[in-house]
Amino acid sequence: MASSTAASVEIVPLLQGGKWRTSDSPNSAEVFNPSTGKVLARVPLCSEQETAAVVDTAAAALPDWSATPAVERARIMFKYRQLMDEHFEELAALVTREHGKTLPESRAEVQRGLEMVEFSCGIPQMLMGDTLPNIAPSVDAETMRHPVGVCVGITPYNFPFMVPLWMFPVALVCGNTFVLKPSEKVPLSSVRMGELLLEAGLPDGVFNIVHGDRTSVETLLTHPNVAAISFVGSTAIAKAIYETGTKNGKRVQSAGGAKNHLIIMPDADLDQSVKALAASAYGCAGQRCMAGSVAVAVGDVAEPLVDGLCQHAGSLRVGPTDGNEEVDMGPVIRREHLERVAGFLDIASGEGAEVALDGRRDFADDGFLLGPSVIDRVAPDMRVAREEIFGPVLSVVRATDLEQALEIGRQCQYGNGASIFTRDGHAAREFKLHFNAGMIGINVGVPAPMAWFPFTGWNQSFFGDLHIQGSESVHFYTRQKMTLTRWFRSAEDSHHDPVWKTSSKAK
Ligand code: NAD
Repeated sequence: MASSTAASVEIVPLLQGGKWRTSDSPNSAEVFNPSTGKVLARVPLCSEQETAAVVDTAAAALPDWSATPAVERARIMFKYRQLMDEHFEELAALVTREHGKTLPESRAEVQRGLEMVEFSCGIPQMLMGDTLPNIAPSVDAETMRHPVGVCVGITPYNFPFMVPLWMFPVALVCGNTFVLKPSEKVPLSSVRMGELLLEAGLPDGVFNIVHGDRTSVETLLTHPNVAAISFVGSTAIAKAIYETGTKNGKRVQSAGGAKNHLIIMPDADLDQSVKALAASAYGCAGQRCMAGSVAVAVGDVAEPLVDGLCQHAGSLRVGPTDGNEEVDMGPVIRREHLERVAGFLDIASGEGAEVALDGRRDFADDGFLLGPSVIDRVAPDMRVAREEIFGPVLSVVRATDLEQALEIGRQCQYGNGASIFTRDGHAAREFKLHFNAGMIGINVGVPAPMAWFPFTGWNQSFFGDLHIQGSESVHFYTRQKMTLTRWFRSAEDSHHDPVWKTSSKAK
């Protein structure tokens, strides 16, 4: 769904009240195909008024949708799941076109998103409350879960399909209506998701899409009809979203950036570890919040590890991904991002590290291509060890023992994922218990949880209480109500307080 201008560039539409329409905003941004460097579409940057009107549409749809039986809400997700399955390859190709990741990576992303829809199909059972009969004579207590209201999702560019699906299927089955503000860099996957939701039979106004940048986000954070905000993006913005949202009385879950550590013990299976490290660091061209970014080589494993990494990474086929499966690693999202990531190689050399594999090459294609890099002899206080790079760069820090590796983790401001590679159960257990991060891998390079588990980022990687995914997400998108019920035995009982026993009889 998109309209065309004379120049044949798609104008990305909004979804409001079940209708697709062109924005009134005079402001827009370009959406690129990172494989070719060419403009794919233009996305409007909606004004405050236009954004507010979309929220009001979602608010108007709330009474009917929240009164719809939970099983009927879930049934739409069953149908949605079926449609996603039927369109699986088309959806993966679209993710590759606007994001640049390889087709197998896009298929994996669509699969993870689909699992969130599968999780949401079972939510009616999770909405059941508790009861305790007879908490006082003739008095029963019960809790029930209510929707919170209009929920907003603000999403990053790196998972155009999966991250919105972390949010709206759960919110919708819980009885909320939803406004999605996808990344302006990758809005097309969200539009396709919206089309399939309407095809699945979702009533008009229950799911809406608004496009934009800071202006529309600020409207969403302050609009009185918004009850809850789910955000995923970089740490500075995540923190600001949490602070502004909560100051305005909203419930907020806000996931930020990361700097993930991969610890390699001297007894690790080196070949397997090298493969897992490379997949973690260079998958999706390093643009994952769970990407391995710092390898901590313990003891004498450093030399063979760096050699193995350079050899493996150097053999990866880097190229355009759109319509091309003969490639292991695709482009990064934008030319400016490529330059920023490549700039970290000079920063590292300037600080005394050694660039063991330099990904800067002359590629024949026009896309935003950068090869994988390995930086050796990185000290924990160097910028490449501390800052999120979000590109295909792996820094290697050398440590004498596990305790030093744990200390490096303690110094890190982030806390998304961390993994250890070892054959030693005791070392693995120590690592699991004491590493300063919320998601732990043992001989697993990307310890990202499935839909049924929470995405438990720590420290500056998450702001809020209830995480995305799993039962925590159902708690985030619902609020509990407790009811005490008494049926009078006789008129004489009616003025007694049954719980606190303030009646004259009790005295
Ligand atoms: P980003 O922070 O630039 O953008 C995220 C969203 O915020 C977008 O929708 C964008 O339009 C909006 N935004 C940007 N600037 C804003 C501003 N000044 N005010 C209000 N809204 C603004 O992030 P990105 O570059 O799109 O995505 C990459 C980042 O997301 C990385 O830091 C990555 O680690 C993080 N991420 C985290 C997780 C997680 O689960 N912790 C998952 C995926 C991505």
